[in-house]
Amino acid sequence: MLNAEFGCRKCGKAVSLNQYKLNRFCPDCGTLLRPVRYWIFQLNPEIYEWFNWIKENRETEQWLASQHAREIREGDRVVIWASGDKAGVYAMGEIMANLSKRPLNPAQEKYWKRKEDIRKFLEKNSVIIKYLKVIVAKPLLEDECSNDPILSSMEILKQSQGTNFPLTMGQWKRILELVEKTQ
Ligand SMILES: [Zn+2]
Repeated sequence: MLNAEFGCRKCGKAVSLNQYKLNRFCPDCGTLLRPVRYWIFQLNPEIYEWFNWIKENRETEQWLASQHAREIREGDRVVIWASGDKAGVYAMGEIMANLSKRPLNPAQEKYWKRKEDIRKFLEKNSVIIKYLKVIVAKPLLEDECSNDPILSSMEILKQSQGTNFPLTMGQWKRILELVEKTQ
C-alpha cells in the first residue's frame, strides 16, 4: 500500500489517515497505530550493480541502514535513489523487517564490485525492503526533482553523502504523484 499514513508495529497492517481518524488501533490485532515514516535510500551504481540486481530480483532486497538507525522501522516507506549521471528515483518500497545486524543475503553478494564493500556493509545494521513499484524504465530524475517546488527541498539534494535520508510525507506523496503520472 503506497499511500498508507499509519501502520501497525506488531502485524504490519497499513491504514490511511481517514481510517486512522475512525480507529487509532489496528483493525487486525488491536495494537495502537503509529505514523509511517518516509525515507530515501541511496545506492551508488559504481559500487553496487543495483540495476543488474533489480533486473533479476524485484521482490525484496537487503539494504544498509546506517544513518537515522533509531527511527527507521518496519512499515516505513522508502524511495530508492541512484547517484551518478542519471541520478534520481528508481523504485519505491516498504521496510519489511526491522533493522539488525544480519548475514548478507547470498543472492546479493555478486553485485558488489569489491569484496571490501561487502565487509563494510556487514559491519552495520541492515533492513529488508519489499519493492512496491520499480520504475527503472521511466525514472524520476534529479533535474525534475530540483525544479519541483515540493521536491527541491529534499535533504538528498542539499547534502548527498550517505545512504539513508529523511523524506517528508508531502515529498513522498509528490514523488508518488509524479511517478504515477508517467507510468
Ligand atoms: Zn496489527
